[in-house]
Amino acid sequence: MRIAENILRIKEEIPPHVKLTAVSKTHPVEIIEEAFRAGQVAFGENKAQEMIRKQTALPNDIAWHFIGHLQTNKVKQVVKFVHFIESVDSFKLLREINKRAENVNRQISCLLQFHIASEESKFGFDVDEASAMLEDIEYKEMQNIRIKGVMGMATFTENTKKIRKEFRDLYRIFTDLKNKYFACSSDFTEISMGMSGDYKIAIEEGSTMVRLGSAIFGMRNY
Ligand SMILES: *Cc1c(COP(=O)(O)O)cnc(C)c1O
Repeated sequence: MRIAENILRIKEEIPPHVKLTAVSKTHPVEIIEEAFRAGQVAFGENKAQEMIRKQTALPNDIAWHFIGHLQTNKVKQVVKFVHFIESVDSFKLLREINKRAENVNRQISCLLQFHIASEESKFGFDVDEASAMLEDIEYKEMQNIRIKGVMGMATFTENTKKIRKEFRDLYRIFTDLKNKYFACSSDFTEISMGMSGDYKIAIEEGSTMVRLGSAIFGMRNY
């Protein structure tokens, strides 16, 4: 394993304003520990049970980022420790996060996930849904969530023009929402885009957070 080397190389390669989330899904806790010892603090998981199991077994100062579709019935357990929920994809989910976070007296950093890819299966808001939520009085009264920006996944393709266009679409969505709903706030600063196959393009198109799995840990065995 060259995990430590991979992390150091990637950190040198990405600009200092871009944060790295190491996507550790499917990998065992020993591997995460190795990355943590190499200085990596933020880890991304896309399944609630898996993240909870790993969190219990690993040091408390790991910053867990949830990056998958989160079912509302899993929110309660995750909210106790999660550092960032990057994949808020419905008003219903945000409502549940706020409610459960209030119960444990925490404020949870969230990103709104947008559907920018052409594949059917990916979750996320469209702009109209997100705008309706951000204008809703119920949202405005939420005290236990902080929306810090947006997240999206490009289509899985070799076509770099298409990928670039989708990242541009997400950047545009970010800018529009920021101007319209977060102009008086310094909270809304993050654009989470870029995975192992496309993070260089994502950074060129304005990413502030990249989520890298295979570039750090190698191939996943499902
Ligand atoms: C798995 C996953 C990643 C990382 O994918 P790699 O191609 O291994 O870098 C990033 N983001 C999300 C949402 C994922 O599910």
